[in-house]
Amino acid sequence: MLGLMQDRPLLISSLLTHAETYHRENTIVSAPCEGGIVRSSWGETALRARQGAQALARLGVNPGDRVATLAWNTHRHLELYFAVPGMGAVLHTVNPRLFAEQLDYILNHGAAGVLAFDLPFLDLVDSLAPKLTHLRHKVVLTDAAHMPDGRDDLLCYETLLAAESGDLVWPAFDERTASGLCYTSGTTGDPKGVLYSHRSTVLHAFLCCQADGLHLSRADSTLLAVPLFHVNAWGIPYASAMCGAKVVLPGPKLDGQSLYELARAEECTFSLGVPTVWIGLFKYLEDAGIDPALLPFQRLLIGGSAAPRALLQRFHDAGIHAFQAWGMSETSPVATVATLLPHHRELPRDQQIDVLARQGRAMFGVELRIVGEDGADLPHDGSVTGELMVRGPWVTSGYYGGVGGDVLDGEGWFATGDVARIDSEGFVTLTDRSKDVIKSGGEWISSIELENAALGHPAVEAAAVVGVAHERWQERPLMLVIRKPGGSATAQDILDFLAGKVVGWWLPDDVVFVDNLPLTATGKLDKKVLRKQYINHLITAETGA
Ligand code: ADP
Repeated sequence: MLGLMQDRPLLISSLLTHAETYHRENTIVSAPCEGGIVRSSWGETALRARQGAQALARLGVNPGDRVATLAWNTHRHLELYFAVPGMGAVLHTVNPRLFAEQLDYILNHGAAGVLAFDLPFLDLVDSLAPKLTHLRHKVVLTDAAHMPDGRDDLLCYETLLAAESGDLVWPAFDERTASGLCYTSGTTGDPKGVLYSHRSTVLHAFLCCQADGLHLSRADSTLLAVPLFHVNAWGIPYASAMCGAKVVLPGPKLDGQSLYELARAEECTFSLGVPTVWIGLFKYLEDAGIDPALLPFQRLLIGGSAAPRALLQRFHDAGIHAFQAWGMSETSPVATVATLLPHHRELPRDQQIDVLARQGRAMFGVELRIVGEDGADLPHDGSVTGELMVRGPWVTSGYYGGVGGDVLDGEGWFATGDVARIDSEGFVTLTDRSKDVIKSGGEWISSIELENAALGHPAVEAAAVVGVAHERWQERPLMLVIRKPGGSATAQDILDFLAGKVVGWWLPDDVVFVDNLPLTATGKLDKKVLRKQYINHLITAETGA
């Protein structure tokens, strides 16, 4: 027997309508590429999203069509987050930091007819456009005054909006309709498109607003330091509409000074981003002699790659509850969140930070297990590592266009490519991506744990550990370190510091000091590049070459 409750579809437009009705006046702050600050509200965002949808329809966008963006975090990009899926089309956010060949592949594969972009990306778009066979309209996310001269091939976003009434009733359709498209970075093979639905997006937004989730609420002023092109900005734009939170969009400026000043000016209570952004923020504070206690945040989410314990500690020392979440494009992205359980509340702060330095526990809707190389289940005892498998209503069931074939096993589990332990309370500790695991004589060494330990050294600004070729052990860990300005630690000092913090045979065979570490387009350590560069480091070192 079926229940007799209303079967109202979970649609992204209903999030916006709710925000417009109940949080109409709450603010959206944006630092657009033209400079200055634009202040609007959920009410204005809703109106402009409707105008945007009308304008896109006039340009020939139909339900199911893709609309691509190459844009920073601004109010206009946020409006498209609602306009495009609201009308039943698919928002395809593209990371402008990718290499030209990747952009070319991703944009052609997504096959959007309309590309909306920020003015600073005009040269990039001009170089890509001849190869984009489906592209019909190029919309610049700016106003008439800033449009480039003599370019009748370009449309102006503000002019398009001004021509529309905003008098549109959002259409209703199946909640499983596609709403957004994001490509994974393609470290293995071509990038693959993850196609979100309205249903998965709305369910994920509920998670963000749970007290034991990301705890987002109407009381928050959120500094969005994760780009709108990085996995739906971790779902925060949609969750913010759900609870009516204030959103602060830093535009192209993600440097420490700009983030600090904007966060202070807008009294931001919450922020989120990858570790490199926060390392940059602390570097600025240190250089400028600013006390981190002046940061206005109450909570701060670190994700995208392992949150170094030392970074969590710095936030907590400043009175900010920093915590970590784990996920991936394929999981919308939030899947686990590190929250203190009641019995952790009594622990000394140091030990609480140890808990928060783990990747966290599954949120309702996310099922997790770890398996061995033979696919058999491994115990959740906190000591055995295996590949992390995930299942749930906001986890992908396959890639766009069937790329990569069948990605689920017979019981619907998705293999994440991450290696982890799960303890008896369900806390996940990620030890590596499977392709970054260091296999030394058949045993595994965790690069993440070594990096984390090294970051506790006062002279270490950043550290990366990769497995490089070794004659006897096939692979051994090599540590690359960026020293803090004025830091004078030697390789032996770092090794002495690590001894006792990790088991003896994990100690890197060498520590090399570098000025920079390569980052991926989403600001994570690019270990592929490092492995390639240093693969023979130990062999040549041993033979004295
Ligand atoms: P990409 O980095 O390939 O562009 P994603 O943003 O989807 O794409 O990255 C997901 C991956 O990032 C995860 O599979 C995991 O390896 C890593 N990751 C995400 N969050 C964390 C975390 N809290 N700790 C460690 N690794 C993380």
